Amino acid sequence: MSGLGKLRVAVIGAGAAGLCAARHLLSRRDTFATPVVYELTKNIGGTWVYEERVGCYDNGLPIHSSMYRDLRTNIPKEVMSFPDFPFAKHLPSFVHHTEVRKYLEQYCDHFRLWDHIQFGTSVASVTPVDVKGGWNGLAWDVTSNNGVDHSKSTTERFDAVMVCNGHFYDPYIPAIPGLEKFKGMLMHSHDYRSAEPLAGKSVVLLGAGLSGLDIAMELSSVDAQVILSHGQRPLTCPLPPGVQQAPPVTSVLEDGTLEFKNGERAKPEVFLFCTGYNFTFPFLDKKVGVKVQEHLVWPLYKFLIPPAYPSLFIVGICRAICPFPHFHVQSQFVLSVLDGSFRLPSREEMEKDIELDIAARRARGIATRHILKLDSEQWAYNDELAHLGGFKPLPRYWSNLYESNKVFRARDMLNYKTYNYTVLDNMEWKVHDLHGQQ
Ligand code: FAD
Repeated sequence: MSGLGKLRVAVIGAGAAGLCAARHLLSRRDTFATPVVYELTKNIGGTWVYEERVGCYDNGLPIHSSMYRDLRTNIPKEVMSFPDFPFAKHLPSFVHHTEVRKYLEQYCDHFRLWDHIQFGTSVASVTPVDVKGGWNGLAWDVTSNNGVDHSKSTTERFDAVMVCNGHFYDPYIPAIPGLEKFKGMLMHSHDYRSAEPLAGKSVVLLGAGLSGLDIAMELSSVDAQVILSHGQRPLTCPLPPGVQQAPPVTSVLEDGTLEFKNGERAKPEVFLFCTGYNFTFPFLDKKVGVKVQEHLVWPLYKFLIPPAYPSLFIVGICRAICPFPHFHVQSQFVLSVLDGSFRLPSREEMEKDIELDIAARRARGIATRHILKLDSEQWAYNDELAHLGGFKPLPRYWSNLYESNKVFRARDMLNYKTYNYTVLDNMEWKVHDLHGQQ
């Protein structure tokens, strides 16, 4: 605790999750000292800070953002926003990424977050220390590096740490036998910025997640010939011109030819991986025991809290969710744990809860690598945290509008971003296309 008895909380990262954490900590000056937000880049926004460069920043650290030049959001602004801070009214429902960055800057202005962010400061280690009288008998030493060449090292002690370092920056490339034999251009979507360099080329694009589909559409617009290779059920919606589907690539032959699961082959000029990202927490002390296995981060109670160290919170690791509202709910839940309004179960009970939850998901046929994909279950999860923490749940229309957008997207990936939404009240909303048709 600080001299005045207020809890000191460190926040790692000033992306949407870290900003949201800071906003809520600052709203509770009665209980919390002003937070320290560590941000390794010179900007707020994380993912939403577009970088033309690929590779590394001037200081040698790898580029964090995976944003591409022409990206427009895949969630309408009406439900993408933090619930307590809407996007500007004049914007269309699906905005260009520059508008999201502006929005996050406005969020910082509105909630006066700027002064609490230490820019150009990377957290190198987060270590638990036993402290008599600390929160749960525990404190955290956070060591960070800054200065031009990141050589200046500082350690500060906190009562709690919220880890908000993002999980879309360390490219995941699946092990494909013979991959080293591929002779064309190999790239990951992390390094994709725009379609023009691939104009007219033959491309095998692996992965039909949101980025994969979006990039396939961009490539189609520059006359690339795209084979969209993926392991899901074949897409039934209309695809852009020049895009055809194939099952996953299973191997690369001696001469660099790609072989698909159905035995068919292709020898493209470009092999583009839209296969997602690894979770990494390089600064976290091993003894905390948080492990990453097959894209599952565990053991974490409510996908947030390691039972043995319950003043550490790993925010925003769930996937297939509506991120900003999710951060808003998780941050408030963290505060309810720290201020004691929600009393955590014992370590053993939390471990049991995690075990049962994972077993139940596996019993429903969910593979380990998909356990963090909450998808439609996110709404029950959000409501449960709000109930436990005793704070306001998301407005009722939120889940319904979000889920409807998912249906429109699956039906009509070519046009769903032309729709606009109007929220009428807590329950109701309507959708119309650009011509005002409902
Ligand atoms: P990030 O935005 O990644 O921020 C993490 C921050 O932590 C960064 O600023 C980073 O510099 C900092 N950091 C990392 N390590 C350290 C360290 N050791 N020390 C100090 N600082 C550190 N979401 C939507 O809602 N709608 C969309 O349309 C949408 N489209 C997307 C498109 C793409 C291509 C991608 C990659 C993601 C998209 N997302 C979208 C998801 C998006 O990532 C989330 O909305 C959200 O921005 C994630 O925020 P975050 O704070 O968790 O992570």
